[in-house]
Amino acid sequence: MAEDLRFTTIAKKFLALYRSRVVTKFRDASDGSRFQALLRSNQFARQLQGMAQNLCHRYENDMWQAHVLDTIDLDTIYSNVDSTEGNEDDYTDRLVKELLRYFKNDFFKWCDKPECITCGSSQDQCHAGISQPTSEEAQYDCGTVEIFKCQKCGSLTRFPRYNDPLKLLETRKGRCGEWCNLFLLFLKSFGIESRYIWNREDHVWCEFYSKNLKRWVHLDCCEQSFDQPYIYSINWNKKMSYVVAFGRDGVVDVSKRYILKNELPRDQINEDDLQFVLNFITKHLRFKLTDEEVYQLACRDEQERLEWISSTGQETKTGSSPHGRESGSTAWKKSRGEDGNT
Ligand SMILES: [Zn+2]
Repeated sequence: MAEDLRFTTIAKKFLALYRSRVVTKFRDASDGSRFQALLRSNQFARQLQGMAQNLCHRYENDMWQAHVLDTIDLDTIYSNVDSTEGNEDDYTDRLVKELLRYFKNDFFKWCDKPECITCGSSQDQCHAGISQPTSEEAQYDCGTVEIFKCQKCGSLTRFPRYNDPLKLLETRKGRCGEWCNLFLLFLKSFGIESRYIWNREDHVWCEFYSKNLKRWVHLDCCEQSFDQPYIYSINWNKKMSYVVAFGRDGVVDVSKRYILKNELPRDQINEDDLQFVLNFITKHLRFKLTDEEVYQLACRDEQERLEWISSTGQETKTGSSPHGRESGSTAWKKSRGEDGNT
């Protein structure tokens, strides 16, 4: 009995020591010069820093979130969740699955080519170049405008690629960029902890933190895909180099979760420097958190790393041969190398 007590005391002391070391490491801001030097010398580091500034807090916007909840059909969503089997613990998982379904089936539309403004069909639309946004389009955070010419009636139709999620709430169409952008705001509107996932080879998707599963879960709203991180490299045969998560509390290299084969060279930055840059940004994002919050998040990071080390044979989970992505036309998927063929 006395021995047990002594052991418990020692264990507690070790844990307290470990906790304080983890927190101290996070509070240490002495490595700013290395970070600045990397920003000066490495373009990829600058790109990541720019994306972090743009994305990490972007969706923590009460006005945007309220707009989403005012626009969507909450009755349908909640009654569909209630009709699924489960308990309180997995409620959020079921809600996320319903949001994926609702978003893809009832709300948002995929758009390779917009409908012709004159004859209403997208059948005969041909890509006819890129244009600058008008001043009206530019109000809604519009990067470029794609121009399409109708082969039947000759009309030109503009397809502005909006980034403003409130504008997307109105237009309800786009490709993976628009889909992911608005869907992440959907998740945030329901108070679901989630983050933006960026792949260097031109795809984006989301993840949410499942308290039930105690891990980050892959979500691709274009594919109505829940927890299938293997679909890109295995099913689509997509070749990728870097996959990075941007969230409110951190920026993380999550390539190991997604790049299970077909890895492209990771030659943009030295691996050690990459890890340093992401850690540095993450430290700053957590600057205002309490010690306890910093510690809990660090434990979660550690768990995520362990998940990758211990994961064995993700491929066995796929259960099927490559079949390509669902969203987009056959030609478009082929041009992106995402049609499942080598
Ligand atoms: Zn037409």
